[in-house]
Amino acid sequence: MTRQLFLTTILIVAATAVAADLTPAPAKSEIATKYGATAQKIIAAAMRDNDGLRRLEYLCDRIGNRVTGSESLEKAVRWAAEEMRKAGLENVRTPPVTVPHWVRGSESATLLEPFQKRLWMMSYGLSVGTPRGGITGEVISTLSPEQLSNLGRAKVEGKIVLFAVERDRYSEAVNHGPARAAAMGAKAVLIRSGFPMQGPHTSQLIYEEGASKIPTASISVEDADLIERLTTKGMPVRLRLEMEAHFDADVEAHNVVGDFLGSEKPKEIVVLGGHIDSWDVGQGAHDDGTGIMASLEAVLLIKQLGLRPKRTLRVVFFTNEESGHRGGQAYRTFIGDEVKNHVAGIEDDHGAEKPIGFGFGGAQHQALFPGAYQRALEIGELLSSINAGKISGRGSGGDIRPITEYGAPGFAMRTINKEYDFWHHTEGDTFDKVVPNDFRLHVASLAVLAFVLADMPERMSELN
Ligand SMILES: [Zn+2]
Repeated sequence: MTRQLFLTTILIVAATAVAADLTPAPAKSEIATKYGATAQKIIAAAMRDNDGLRRLEYLCDRIGNRVTGSESLEKAVRWAAEEMRKAGLENVRTPPVTVPHWVRGSESATLLEPFQKRLWMMSYGLSVGTPRGGITGEVISTLSPEQLSNLGRAKVEGKIVLFAVERDRYSEAVNHGPARAAAMGAKAVLIRSGFPMQGPHTSQLIYEEGASKIPTASISVEDADLIERLTTKGMPVRLRLEMEAHFDADVEAHNVVGDFLGSEKPKEIVVLGGHIDSWDVGQGAHDDGTGIMASLEAVLLIKQLGLRPKRTLRVVFFTNEESGHRGGQAYRTFIGDEVKNHVAGIEDDHGAEKPIGFGFGGAQHQALFPGAYQRALEIGELLSSINAGKISGRGSGGDIRPITEYGAPGFAMRTINKEYDFWHHTEGDTFDKVVPNDFRLHVASLAVLAFVLADMPERMSELN
């Protein structure tokens, strides 16, 4: 050995020893050892994938939004079932779901005094409409349901109430404002949408039980602020609200269900999905086209990679999430006793911004099953290379709740959640808002989680 080679050898040995001493490799969990390579393979395939995006684009641009009860929702159901069949899923079915049929109709709000101007509004889903010819009235502006109560009935009766709320009090205004205003004799309610650029924002309106129902609409931030500035200066503000919103008779809609049967325990099922319905505005891209298309693609990728987990992976596109959750309840009825074979439910319904991890099982599950929570953390580690493996509490979702209530652990996709609230339920929820690589990360996360849940030796609920 030359002197130089000898020194080099010494240095390499020393460097290796230092590295080994100072940075001991963390002990790998059994899950990491068993599934690490598979997870990386799935992630790499998901990041190259374009099929999921192609389907999402078709759904958005060729079918469009899919409000409960509409023909476009049925069109989406037929198309989705056909796509599942073409891609080789098994037992593709579209079980019927009886759903309410709320129709928006035409609607408008016009400022009449102190000057005439069109106002940017959108009625809340399930709101009642106005009488033909609309409602004309003076506007009273308030900052919260509580502040409205303090005004006293005399000031509110016969008026149109504007809740000029900031975003942090938006939900409170939607949930309690209409009932409070109706009880005080108001004729209609407007709520500041909380999201700028003249974009009103719809969502499901739930009238409080026993309260009389008055027409309720979202109004743009800019128009709400204009009215607020005028009323604050003591100026009388009058407007006319016209809303044709009404219910037609219940109609039959459908869930879409497709299986990738397990190799050893096909009767045990991991469900993953989101909702196929949307509101009747925008394209229902983030809410929830991305959730259903990412779930389908996750399962198809696993299949294409030649991986078949021991248990069945089931993709479910639930219907009527936005205005009643009848799809989730109907799925529970559809499976009957089979619910006991549901090993886990995964829901992706918070838009397709960059994922950070999953909510797990609800706080209840975390407390009841520390072993299962530990396992969820270990599965999360498999997603650490894409920073999508953080496991937090409260993992159920509206559609999978009927099966998680029965006892199957639930996982809910969590994202950075920066702009979703601005887009969803508005005309702005369109395909262009979906960042391709973020969507691919959803596919990767769902596929890794679903595969491991379906393939690991124990059922999640056995780990206590
Ligand atoms: Zn949704």
